[in-house]
Amino acid sequence: MPNTKNKYSLIIIGAGPAGLTASIYASRYKIDNLIISEAPGGMILKAHKICNFPTEQEISGAELVKKMQKHTEFLDADFIINKVVGIDKEKQTFKIITRNKKIFFADTLLLAMGTEHRQLNLPNENKFIGKGVSYCATCDAMFYKHKTVAVLGGSDSANTSSLHLAEIADKVYQIYRKDKLRGETTWIDQVIKNKKIEVIYNTNVIDLKGNEKLEEIILDTPYKGEKKIKIDGLFVEIGSVPQKIIINAKDLLLETNESGSIKVKSDQSTSKEGIWAAGDITTASNNFHQIITACSEGAIAAESIFKFLHTKPKRNVILNPIQG
Ligand SMILES: Cc1cc2nc3c(=O)[nH]c(=O)nc-3n(C[C@H](O)[C@H](O)[C@H](O)COP(=O)(O)OP(=O)(O)OC[C@H]3O[C@@H](n4cnc5c(N)ncnc54)[C@H](O)[C@@H]3O)c2cc1C
Repeated sequence: MPNTKNKYSLIIIGAGPAGLTASIYASRYKIDNLIISEAPGGMILKAHKICNFPTEQEISGAELVKKMQKHTEFLDADFIINKVVGIDKEKQTFKIITRNKKIFFADTLLLAMGTEHRQLNLPNENKFIGKGVSYCATCDAMFYKHKTVAVLGGSDSANTSSLHLAEIADKVYQIYRKDKLRGETTWIDQVIKNKKIEVIYNTNVIDLKGNEKLEEIILDTPYKGEKKIKIDGLFVEIGSVPQKIIINAKDLLLETNESGSIKVKSDQSTSKEGIWAAGDITTASNNFHQIITACSEGAIAAESIFKFLHTKPKRNVILNPIQG
């Protein structure tokens, strides 16, 4: 439903599993809430096949997040597609500024902006983005039909990216700096068994070569006597870093850990009153970044916000005014 107002009890920034679940719970607690998000879904859109979300034996991230968004719409939550570029505070009210310079106000805030891909930080990396270097196999695999590609990384996202690419490309090198892949055993077994995938352990990519587009990667350990591999595409899956928190007011700066993840208490509240955080952007759930843990954190945050809104006197509202 399109939003018609600019003041809410709760504004949720981010429409991934954490933000959307929080909205579902908030709506059922009758908290008027607005979701502002750059796009519906974040990291979840990069998941080609999700096989571990209860009730879904196999579903794409895009399909799953669409279902979640439909659920928020059914409960009449407001939704705006835009990037939040600033958060400020005026008296007791939070002020949220979007890229198109719209301003919204809220009694409480939930930060659910997730993470962004970690880059390799190699000299030619930015030059080859979209010309051979990608951070999303689900989005770009189709460009590599019958080609040779490499995936860098050894986690679930790297393993599932290799498997997806093996359905399309002729050859997939998976390059990992350690001596064993990590993550779900089911994915690891499938990678090892797949004849199109060759895992190269104990190896790093140290340079990217090519003219107009990526043509070759240079490895830091000899591979069958060679240090170079000719490839058409490199998929970088070496983890992610929390999104920047875009807070303007100094007295709103949140406590984070050394990697920038927002520190939260067991009810998902942050170091600042009135601000909660949920999903991959936080230090919660034992740093186990999954859809179900993001959903769980979103639900816990909404319940905690509900209690907060009902135990604190309403901001800018005179309670029980004396009748004249
Ligand atoms: C390749 C891959 C495969 C995966 N496979 C699985 C799997 O099989 N099972 C599983 O459980 N998990 C999987 N995951 C992990 C899962 O996708 C994440 O843990 C989950 O999406 C985190 O949810 P989130 O809501 O915290 O963040 P995200 O899903 O990242 O959502 C963040 C949202 O915030 C928005 N946003 C960010 N910054 C701003 C801003 N400034 N203003 C407005 N909006 C903003 C984004 O547009 C997005 O909508 C996978 C991840 C990857 C990368």
